[in-house]
Amino acid sequence: MRPAPTGDTKVAGVIGDPVRHSLSPALHNAAFAALGLDWTYVAFEVPDGQGAGAVAAMRVLGIEGLSVTMPHKDTVAAAVDELSPAAALLGAVNCVRRDGDRLIGENTDGAGFLRSLCTEVAVEPAELRTVVLGAGGAARAVIVALAAEGAQVTVVNRSPDAAARAAALGAAAGGATIGASGGPSGSAVVGPAEAVRDADVVVNATPLGMNAGDPLPVDPALLSGGQTVVDLIYRPARTPLLEAAAQAGATTLNGTGMLLFQAAEQFSMWTGRDAPVDEMAAAVGLRIAG
Ligand code: NAP
Repeated sequence: MRPAPTGDTKVAGVIGDPVRHSLSPALHNAAFAALGLDWTYVAFEVPDGQGAGAVAAMRVLGIEGLSVTMPHKDTVAAAVDELSPAAALLGAVNCVRRDGDRLIGENTDGAGFLRSLCTEVAVEPAELRTVVLGAGGAARAVIVALAAEGAQVTVVNRSPDAAARAAALGAAAGGATIGASGGPSGSAVVGPAEAVRDADVVVNATPLGMNAGDPLPVDPALLSGGQTVVDLIYRPARTPLLEAAAQAGATTLNGTGMLLFQAAEQFSMWTGRDAPVDEMAAAVGLRIAG
């Protein structure tokens, strides 16, 4: 059992509303325990409109790190002292870290996605043809991350305006402003669902598949062997899309790795330590592949 917090215990937490369902406290507290760090992580239910107040409280209370979830990702971006390139482009912060007295807003979703893709299914996106289904918060992080790594991204989304905004972000990132310098330039455009037929990597970033009876986010006849099909959904672990992809002979990956690795990135930013990913996964009853 972990010792009770003392006056020296460092505090991190998540702000959001709702936030009680968040897996973050279990993930981070398992990581602190596994490494024997005198840290604790709590959930702060912060109402809409109070994100900047929470950042001010972080300064005053000496909170070491914050995870940020809905509805505060954009207001926190405006309240920190500095933004990482990804957070600035996305206009969304999911993590605040300290650099001395300064608070830096980060967005670790894209890095978490890329690490999942690389470590779990050995896919390096540079120069690959990729299709992202969806144009919401998760999709935008993935689009920017893929384009920054030099992938060609086609955005397929129900609402054309959201698709165009997301593709514009990807196109901006494709100039290798965020990814490893010197790599190939990425691109992002809006396209039709049929683009899935020629894709190397297909990512579902819509919620379709979370609930029984949801339609598939794309026609399964467009899927084939040789493709990697990723569903950002992690519960259920195997969505109907991933079932259809496996039947078509494709490699499949769910959202568990992205969830864990984006948290692992946050943990490392705060503590300077590599995150114990397996212990974090076990704490929330998830398992990563690879
Ligand atoms: P979001 O911001 O609400 O965006 C949802 C996107 O899905 C929008 O582009 C929306 O299209 C589209 N969509 C929603 N319902 C649809 C429907 N019935 N038919 C077609 N398109 C539909 O949500 P989000 O935060 O990006 O989350 C998206 C998914 O990613 C969720 O399943 C979430 O659980 C998952 N996720 C996973 C992780 C992870 O770490 N694994 C992290 C974040 C999110 P419109 O633009 O037309 O509304």
